[in-house]
Amino acid sequence: MVMRLLLKPLPASWPAPARPPGLRGLLARLRDLAAAVRRHEDVHERLRRAATQALVWQAYQQTLAEQERQRRRPAAFAQAWKNHLTALLAADTVEITGRPAITAADRDPDLAWSLYAAVSRARAEAIARAAATPSRPRHVADSPASWYEFTIAAEDHPLGRVQYTVCQPCGVGLLRGISFPLEWQFCGLGTLALRELETRHPSLTWYTTDQYEHARSFYERYRNRSTSPWTDEPQPCPHV
Ligand SMILES: [Zn+2]
Repeated sequence: MVMRLLLKPLPASWPAPARPPGLRGLLARLRDLAAAVRRHEDVHERLRRAATQALVWQAYQQTLAEQERQRRRPAAFAQAWKNHLTALLAADTVEITGRPAITAADRDPDLAWSLYAAVSRARAEAIARAAATPSRPRHVADSPASWYEFTIAAEDHPLGRVQYTVCQPCGVGLLRGISFPLEWQFCGLGTLALRELETRHPSLTWYTTDQYEHARSFYERYRNRSTSPWTDEPQPCPHV
C-alpha cells in the first residue's frame, strides 16, 4: 500500500479531497486518476512529480533503515519521516541511486507534503484497522497435532503472518513463527497476533521456537503481561 502510493505514477490532480473513504477507496481513486490523466500530462510536470515522489520515498526508506535500532512506534516514526523529508527538501541536490540528481527546480514541496500526509494517514489507518484473518488448519498425518496459519491484515492487505501448531491432547501450543516486515514492526501488531492466538486456543501452555534476538525480547515483554502460560522449556510434547 505504502509502496503503491510512493512508487506508482501519481495523478496530476493530487491531492485528493481531505477525507478518503478508507484505504481501499484511496488506492482505487489513485489508480483511476493516474490512468485518466497520464496521456494528457505535460512531460516536465510528470518528471517533477516523479522526482518529488522519489524524495518522499527516500525519506521513508531512511526512516525504515533506522527502525532496527530506534524501534519507533507509529507516531514517532511519522515524525522521524517528516524530519528526513524536511532535510531532503532543504538540500540543494539530492542523489538517489538509479536516478538523476534532484535539484530544487525538480521538486514540488506542496506535493511532497500532500503525499506524506496521505501515506501517513493510510499507514495509521492500516494499523488501526489491522485484524487477524481466520486460522487455516493444515492437519499432519498420524499426529494429534495440527498446524495453523493466519495473517494480520488491514482490509485485504496482509501486514504479517503467524504460524503455529496445537496439540490438544497434551494441552500444548507451539508458536513456530511470527513475521512482520520491518515496515510493520513496533506497531503493536505482534501483540495483537499473540493475543489472538491465546483467544482462539485457550487453556494451552505456549512454547516458542528459537527466535532472533529482537523477537526474543518481544516475547519476554509479552510473556510478562500475558495471562496464558508461556514457557522456555525446550520440548513441548512428542507430537509437535
Ligand atoms: Zn502432544
